[in-house]
Amino acid sequence: MSRMPDGVAREAVIDVGAIEHNVRHLRALTASEVIAVVKADGYGHGAERSARAALAGGAARLATADVPEALALRSAGIDAPLLAWLHAPNASFQDAAAARIELGVSSVEQVRAAAAAGSRERPVRVQLKVETGLGRNGIAPSEYGTVFGEAARFEREGLIEVIGVFSHLSNTSPEDDRTALSRFTVAQAAAESAGLHPPLRHIAASHAAIDMPEARLGCVRLGVAIYGLSPFADRSSADLGLRPAMTLRGAVAAVRRVPAGQGVSYGYLHRTVAESTLALVAMGYADGVPRAASGAGPVVIGDRRFTVAGRIAMDQFVVDVGDAPVEVGDEAVLFGDPAVGAPAASDWADAAGTINYEIVTRVGPRVPRREVRS
Ligand SMILES: *Cc1c(COP(=O)(O)O)cnc(C)c1O
Repeated sequence: MSRMPDGVAREAVIDVGAIEHNVRHLRALTASEVIAVVKADGYGHGAERSARAALAGGAARLATADVPEALALRSAGIDAPLLAWLHAPNASFQDAAAARIELGVSSVEQVRAAAAAGSRERPVRVQLKVETGLGRNGIAPSEYGTVFGEAARFEREGLIEVIGVFSHLSNTSPEDDRTALSRFTVAQAAAESAGLHPPLRHIAASHAAIDMPEARLGCVRLGVAIYGLSPFADRSSADLGLRPAMTLRGAVAAVRRVPAGQGVSYGYLHRTVAESTLALVAMGYADGVPRAASGAGPVVIGDRRFTVAGRIAMDQFVVDVGDAPVEVGDEAVLFGDPAVGAPAASDWADAAGTINYEIVTRVGPRVPRREVRS
């Protein structure tokens, strides 16, 4: 029976050794340079620690969604090449330029804003984001001429340096992704004919990096897989040689022996069928435990797997453990590495009708992260 340390109600244990392993493994598998995506606080694992672990595992570069996330990494002393691609309307890139952040640009306005923040002494590094079918941001094929021409002009003036061209796949089907990849080839050719020679090109995130060798292009942008989670519904972390880096666990905060017919939590969605023990875990939807998984999310207590009983509340949920000898202070594992008996993040995703990405990313600020290295 595992116990929680005294005084700890809940924690997310982050194994930086797992992140290192995953990056090393994926780098070998893809034979490509790895851009480690550490947006959204490193998918909930902590952006700085994830960045350091990814670099230690052999990632050459880092990426975040937006500039403030990238600036936070620079403030933490992280010096590696760092790309941000999703910008606030009319953002000025002065701070990003001063911090040597590479800008993913999706429009002529963003190219101009990047050039305005650059100088001959300190040209701003730019990567052109092109639309290949996802329907989000990215330079559209009809704009290639104008935007690439403008970028080439600013590059000749020494204000920007175009170091990459990239896009993102929809993972809808292999055919859709192949179509997007061929559009990407057209975009690269258009950049070349505009006089641009960006050394980096990348389109594959975790899904395509693992499953679509022709999309690797010598550089892959990996998020979920570096945290040890599978981007596929039908393949586990272990199937892919990955180790989940986050274990979410709480302490049993109270136990109560109750008779048959006891209602549990709001709305009495669960009632005991016989005399039973109810174990209270002090984590709720404020901590990222999805309320949609009420009555369905798995919890391991003392090597036995149970299911959340009734509604998950803001701060707590209940497990009906029957006659199992559960005590206050016992560890309740929500998810972690199935190789050591924990439920998978994807089990919670299935219970909540979402994906494993959301399960780790939504773990809230009230949950302390504790770093370990296995
Ligand atoms: C989040 C994101 C990634 C990483 O995706 P994973 O599926 O987590 O590997 C890569 N590129 C872009 C543009 C993204 O938004």
